[in-house]
Amino acid sequence: MNFFEGLEKFGIKPKTDIGLYEEEKKQEQQRQQEEAAKLEEPKEEDFLLQRNIKCPVCDKTFKDIAMKSGKAKRLEPDEDLRPRQMYIDSLKYGATVCPHCGYAALNRYFTHIASVQMKMIREEVTPNFKPLEPETELRAYTYDEAIERHKLSLFNAMAKKARTSEKAYNCLIISWLLRGKAEEIGEEQVDEYSQCKEEEEAFYWEAYEGLLKAVSSENFPICGMDANTMDYLLAAMASHYKQYDVASKCLSRVLSSSTAGRKVKDMALDMKEQIIGEIKKM
Ligand SMILES: [Zn+2]
Repeated sequence: MNFFEGLEKFGIKPKTDIGLYEEEKKQEQQRQQEEAAKLEEPKEEDFLLQRNIKCPVCDKTFKDIAMKSGKAKRLEPDEDLRPRQMYIDSLKYGATVCPHCGYAALNRYFTHIASVQMKMIREEVTPNFKPLEPETELRAYTYDEAIERHKLSLFNAMAKKARTSEKAYNCLIISWLLRGKAEEIGEEQVDEYSQCKEEEEAFYWEAYEGLLKAVSSENFPICGMDANTMDYLLAAMASHYKQYDVASKCLSRVLSSSTAGRKVKDMALDMKEQIIGEIKKM
């Protein structure tokens, strides 16, 4: 049925197969699709994007996967400041890896590399590195992939003789990734879970030792942290190892600091009370 028969004389050529209420139908369909999308849980990919990166070591470009900034909802961090977000673990995307030459670093350090260090990477990493398939599509990393990328970054940090803090921070991120992996595995899978926790402990200890060394030899900010944040982090790590003397010293520095904000002071106060409770139990 052509509802517009006779309009040809005005020069109008209506499509004969179009329904009068096609537009309304389309709008209703779109509304239903949007409703359904809202109800669906977001996927990790929804928080990710691809970036083009130029490797400072081999000068080749590659596509890398990164977090969209400010999109994921933050959750309360762990006591030692491990960041947590809804639907995604941002830590998985903290290392950049060049698929061509094997140069890898934590994102914050990737472009900050001296030419003498580039030479070390070309000599100690690239010759044995098997180039990776380029990342063509946007996808989420598994914990195992993320951990491998961060281990490659740590290996590069050793090869380029990075600062103590860079190596220690890299170890801290690996231990936090292993904590995330353990949470994903779940305590019911006894063997796999305890193996994962054991590895987490090993990297956590390396991080703790390294950060203690770094604060006595480097200037703040260290790994992007000011002195108060670092003191709080070290206190949390020290009390994990029941080194309450170290923890107390770090906490009193935070509590008496004139530059520490309300939030970190409150957290330090809470931890101090916990430690007093623990010491009483001993
Ligand atoms: Zn490269």
